[in-house]
Amino acid sequence: MKRDILSLNCGEIERELLSLGYPKYRGRQIYDWLMHGVRDFDEMTNLPKDLRSTLKNEFRLYAPKVLSKQVSQLDGTIKYLWELYDGNAVETVVMSYKHGNTVCVSCQVGCRQGCAFCASTIGGLVRSLEPSEILDEVFFSQQDSGKPISNIVLMGIGEPLDNFDNVMRFLELVNDPAGMNIGMRHISLSTCGITERFEDLAAKDLQLTLSVSLHAPDDETRSRLMPANRGRGVEELMRCCKKYYEQTGRRISFEYAMIDGVNDTQFHAKLLAERAKYVGAHVNLIPLNYVEERPFKPSTSGHMKAFIKVLESEGVNVTVRRRLGSDVDASCGQLRRKIQKQNA
Ligand code: SAH
Repeated sequence: MKRDILSLNCGEIERELLSLGYPKYRGRQIYDWLMHGVRDFDEMTNLPKDLRSTLKNEFRLYAPKVLSKQVSQLDGTIKYLWELYDGNAVETVVMSYKHGNTVCVSCQVGCRQGCAFCASTIGGLVRSLEPSEILDEVFFSQQDSGKPISNIVLMGIGEPLDNFDNVMRFLELVNDPAGMNIGMRHISLSTCGITERFEDLAAKDLQLTLSVSLHAPDDETRSRLMPANRGRGVEELMRCCKKYYEQTGRRISFEYAMIDGVNDTQFHAKLLAERAKYVGAHVNLIPLNYVEERPFKPSTSGHMKAFIKVLESEGVNVTVRRRLGSDVDASCGQLRRKIQKQNA
């Protein structure tokens, strides 16, 4: 298969051009076209024709197609299902907040982490996305919606730390002032807790926010909900989180989906408060999104209130995430799953 030019950085494209016998500055020109959303070599009008045909022979360049687009009547959230070059599909969500527009991107087709409440993992992992494919989720969501994107969350389908190198290259590209120029402080990366990668991430010294999907503060509940906890354990996860915070100075955020009768008791609240204080983490509570195939229900508002009260009385910084796009299957791999079921 031809190589993927959009996953290369400027220096790499320049080196490719030199080895193809062209001057280095041609690489910069190509990179600039790519960063401005051009996905057809023939539209790179300042390149000589022979170079354009060489590029077509050497590299593939593909713009994702909109398979489905749903706009929420409730809050304007837009949910895209993109068709990739090989026919696979991933979801991207654009959410509008007072402070700007946030895009939630997928980093894999499917997921192998197996979380018991999540729709994305039902069919397992198909493949990881290339850096170019993640970049194009942001680029084409912005272009199609006409909403300038200022924030990115890696909270769509897939586990970012299970596609580490490609996600790091995506971050480099999307952060480049020559391109979308989205600041690292406006990017969150969410993980189910692949602790072996925390040091690698800290070593990159990025200014992004690391979100850890905790969902339970004790091993019994967490291992039941999240296979990634088995063999790692909550205490090891907490040690790695604390170390990450010490190394980077960036406060971690714990994601916690409230599940009725499963992780929303006073016992869980007290232990969660202890964990959050140990790590210096902020807690982000999310009412569970109901997934048809899964046996779980969101917590009642009474249980949520009591839970929040414990955290607040312990001095933990806690927020409740607003639900957006609930009328457009805008969460957690539900749109891709729905299309899969229709096709089955
Ligand atoms: N693999 C990464 C990122 C993708 S999931 C991770 O695990 O963090 C993004 C967030 O949505 C995670 O916090 C995940 O646990 C959560 N999530 C998955 N299914 C959910 C559901 N049905 N309701 C609420 N949150 C869910």
